[in-house]
Amino acid sequence: MTQPRPDGRVVVVGGGLAGITAALRCADAGWAVTLLESRRHLGGLTHSFRRGDLEVDNGQHVFLRCCTSYVELLRRLGVADKVFLQPRLDIEVRSPRLAEPVRLRRNALPAPLHLADSVLRYRPLTRTERLRFAGAALALRRVDPDAPASDAQSFATWLAAHGQSAAAVTKLWDLVGVATLNARAADASLGLAATVFQIGLLTDPAAADIGWARVPLRELHGDPAQARLTEAGARVVLGAKVTALRPDGPNGGAWRVVTGADEFVADNVVLAVPPTAAARLLPPGAVDLPPGWAEELGSSPIVNVHAVFDRKVMDVPFFAAVDSPVQWVFDRTGQSDVDGGQYVAVSMSAADEEIEAPVATIRERLLPELRQVLGTSAQVRDFFVTRERHATFRPAPGCAALRPPARTALAGLVLAGAWTATGWPATMEGAVRSGEAAARVVLDGTGARVPAAEELPTHAGGGS
Ligand SMILES: Cc1cc2nc3c(=O)[nH]c(=O)nc-3n(C[C@H](O)[C@H](O)[C@H](O)COP(=O)(O)OP(=O)(O)OC[C@H]3O[C@@H](n4cnc5c(N)ncnc54)[C@H](O)[C@@H]3O)c2cc1C
Repeated sequence: MTQPRPDGRVVVVGGGLAGITAALRCADAGWAVTLLESRRHLGGLTHSFRRGDLEVDNGQHVFLRCCTSYVELLRRLGVADKVFLQPRLDIEVRSPRLAEPVRLRRNALPAPLHLADSVLRYRPLTRTERLRFAGAALALRRVDPDAPASDAQSFATWLAAHGQSAAAVTKLWDLVGVATLNARAADASLGLAATVFQIGLLTDPAAADIGWARVPLRELHGDPAQARLTEAGARVVLGAKVTALRPDGPNGGAWRVVTGADEFVADNVVLAVPPTAAARLLPPGAVDLPPGWAEELGSSPIVNVHAVFDRKVMDVPFFAAVDSPVQWVFDRTGQSDVDGGQYVAVSMSAADEEIEAPVATIRERLLPELRQVLGTSAQVRDFFVTRERHATFRPAPGCAALRPPARTALAGLVLAGAWTATGWPATMEGAVRSGEAAARVVLDGTGARVPAAEELPTHAGGGS
């Protein structure tokens, strides 16, 4: 087994949360780390930008108390005080059909009883639906999330087989599932859904307490990551798009990482880029996946609709909506430097319908619905949309077989990214866990052999 070398050279490709985590772990262990990121900032899918006077996140992000690796990263970045974590899960749910909102709130009982009274009082569903929901939740605790049969089945099929009506699916299961999986039950693998509900709602009563940033994402992730990495001795190169990756030297033993402007030689490379980029860069034989795996894994969009109202329109930090195209609504006023009025963001996951729609169409369709759940006729000072076409991988049945582990078949070449085999859906927690897993492989040494350049076929694109 190769011994870890404190002076080993690591190149991390991709500066999202996965790459940041892997780079920081290796730099903290004394390795010589270079982080290459194609964009002009770190943070990947979690970033923010300025629009006039407004600081805008590319999309609202939340985490749960069970996201322990993510919270640990925040501590390492020195920004743990820049997030707020609910002391006790409390979600206001509004519906245009209800005069008053309902609340999903945990009580002091052990899981899963901690939500029992909220569910039994959940007025968007009938009494029978609420009781049946409880029965299915208990059954979901017994599903093995890692079993191939769970991955192969759709969550909706399982829910239907466990007595869940269409209303129960859309008004309660999907309320949680769409936001965490970025897919409706019909499009989600039972295995991933079971993971989300088991970890978040059915085991530890505190697990699903919700947290969010009190600052723009750039100030929470990208900027502090760059500062901490530099302090730890890592080199961060922005605007460096990696175009090729090849074994270096006549007998292998190292990797050459090529960007438009430069070449870097490393003993280990952590490839922490999205799946399609990884498929392009991976040398043949690196992963045991079928041709076209990255396209088959696919991606799912998230759209955020941003509206700045001329006055206060909500007095809770966020709420969810049912019986409405509006999904989750967040007050962004504090994080975004808004002067007067109130800035709200509507986060729309699994947004296949909205992703290509013009702003005017989205406005026409959504604004009246938003006003209805806000209960306001306030004027809108600004209205715009942010779109992330490839926000997450598509958590469809069968996706587990398309998610490779951190360790590849080639020594010194390691994968990271929320889409790799973390067992989690594509979340910040999954990304951080994948970065930790990649760093473990690097720091433990792989024991495998780096192939010599001439041993690899010459065509590009690892099987895609
Ligand atoms: C709008 C939106 C809302 C979300 N909401 C939540 C939420 O509420 N909670 C939650 O937990 N998760 C949420 N997510 C998911 C979460 O943001 C991601 O799972 C996570 O940030 C992915 O991190 P990553 O490092 O794996 O990948 P990425 O963030 O995609 O990082 C990959 C990096 O690689 C870089 N790169 C690509 N190709 C190259 C190349 N050739 N050379 C160099 N660099 C390259 C990219 O520029 C990018 O910076 C949301 C995502 C979006 C988009």
